[in-house]
Amino acid sequence: MKKLVTIIMLASIFVGNAQKKPKLVVGIVVDQMRYDYLLRFKDKFGSKGFNKLISEGTNFENGHFNYIPTYTAVGHSSVYTGTTPKNHGIIGNNWYDKDLKKSIYVVDDANYNTIGSTSKEGQKSPKRLVASTVSDQLKIAQNFKGKVVGVAIKDRSAILPVGHAADIAYWFDGGNQGKWVSSTFYAKQLPNWVSAYNQENKATLDAYLNAPWVTEKDILDYHESTLDNKHFEGTFKNEKAPVFPHDLPSLKEKNGNYSLLKTTPFGNTMTLDFAKEIIKKEELGKNKMYSDFLAVSLSSTDYIGHKYGPASKEIEDTYLRLNNDLDDFIKYLDRKVGDDNYVLFLTADHAVVQVPHFLTDNKLPGGYVNGKDLSGKLLEFTFKKYNSKHLIENFSNDQIFLNHDEIAKLDLSLEDVENSIIKEIINSPLVYKAVSAHTLQKTEFNNTPLSLLQEGYNQKYSGDILVTFTPSILKGSNASTGTSHGTGYNYDTHVPIIFYGANIAKGKAVKKPVVITQIAPTLSNLLQIQEPNMSSLDILTEVFSKEK
Ligand SMILES: [Zn+2]
Repeated sequence: MKKLVTIIMLASIFVGNAQKKPKLVVGIVVDQMRYDYLLRFKDKFGSKGFNKLISEGTNFENGHFNYIPTYTAVGHSSVYTGTTPKNHGIIGNNWYDKDLKKSIYVVDDANYNTIGSTSKEGQKSPKRLVASTVSDQLKIAQNFKGKVVGVAIKDRSAILPVGHAADIAYWFDGGNQGKWVSSTFYAKQLPNWVSAYNQENKATLDAYLNAPWVTEKDILDYHESTLDNKHFEGTFKNEKAPVFPHDLPSLKEKNGNYSLLKTTPFGNTMTLDFAKEIIKKEELGKNKMYSDFLAVSLSSTDYIGHKYGPASKEIEDTYLRLNNDLDDFIKYLDRKVGDDNYVLFLTADHAVVQVPHFLTDNKLPGGYVNGKDLSGKLLEFTFKKYNSKHLIENFSNDQIFLNHDEIAKLDLSLEDVENSIIKEIINSPLVYKAVSAHTLQKTEFNNTPLSLLQEGYNQKYSGDILVTFTPSILKGSNASTGTSHGTGYNYDTHVPIIFYGANIAKGKAVKKPVVITQIAPTLSNLLQIQEPNMSSLDILTEVFSKEK
């Protein structure tokens, strides 16, 4: 008897020394979430949701994206592959394809068809992602056992996080469909339970659309935002002013029916509701031998942010509602999976700039640049200098793609053409820096913004000249409303990075600067698997609790 007790004790010491692998990893990417929202709405969040994650998890207060451009597809790819566009190959949401000589959309793939609806929304795949993701590595490590699922309203935000070996990714087909759909890349058809869920869920979606979007709490208590009616906020089609209540029943027809939900807080609610159903029906975190992975991305924060800007009442309402939804989701995970069994991390795919009009109204620098004017001026310049109208092939995502055939035909040097255009464009008042592909290939930069351009520059896919503008400049005119993102300035790069759950250090606040590409190697270490193939090796060691 004594012997047996000793053996059990020794065995438990042995097990106790090993790091316990989470049965489930849940990634939550809040599209366009600025770090300062955690501070601005802190009191209103109470002890729930975001504040619960912070007080019971590890919060990186100074977490940044480390490349330009800070767009959605790029952000999701970088978080889950642990590397930057220079490696993983995702250089935008759309970009000019040098070989095809046309603009492509990141996850379009006509080799596949939609499953779950009759539209073409499912003709997608992750084929343009060159690197493996952390969930790809989990699949390899477990001999392709364990489940990996992605979900988001946006297709790119569902597909790219879970990479190539995922069981399935779901995104939202709006319009008249109102369904979660996928691609034949993953499966021949939707699981039966998802088809049934889509049917039943219609009533919930209709209920959202058949009532106005009003603020959840009294709008007079929303002190953390500007007045509701601002000239620089966007409106829905057929809406007179950008103010509450937003009358969804009268707006839905002119605003794409179920697609209208994307630009309301209910888009996040319905995504998290579906995520809960995935956990339940797929029994995520329940397998004794294998770990599962669920990547959730919340897209509505981005749609709403673009339309109204970070200082709006709409954003305040959206984050207060999201805080409640998040709290429900955490409770659900605790109940279904057990708080000892899962690790959750929360971050964003990029942040966002204040609406330039809002800044200039308050005497801060900012403004708008007309992209077409700038392109026109450059075309004029190259025509004058080289007597050719075809030297610039494309100017998009702040990258100039030169016509290499034309340059060869005219017997010009590519480097000379790059340099003369750079000399010209730097004279434009709002251009801050312009740098050539040649320079980026020859020199290693340590300081921003050139180091950020370098991390975002992919030798195979990127343009010949990369341009950055001064802070808080958007493409548009004085008539523009809303805001955007894409730069390497702090307002676009500073995002939340919070780890929470099994074996994660509790209540730790980390102040040193960290970068988004450290998330994937950290998750790999928690899961005790090989890191993604192009990943950073720099782990966020602060997340590991010393308890075990
Ligand atoms: Zn966006």
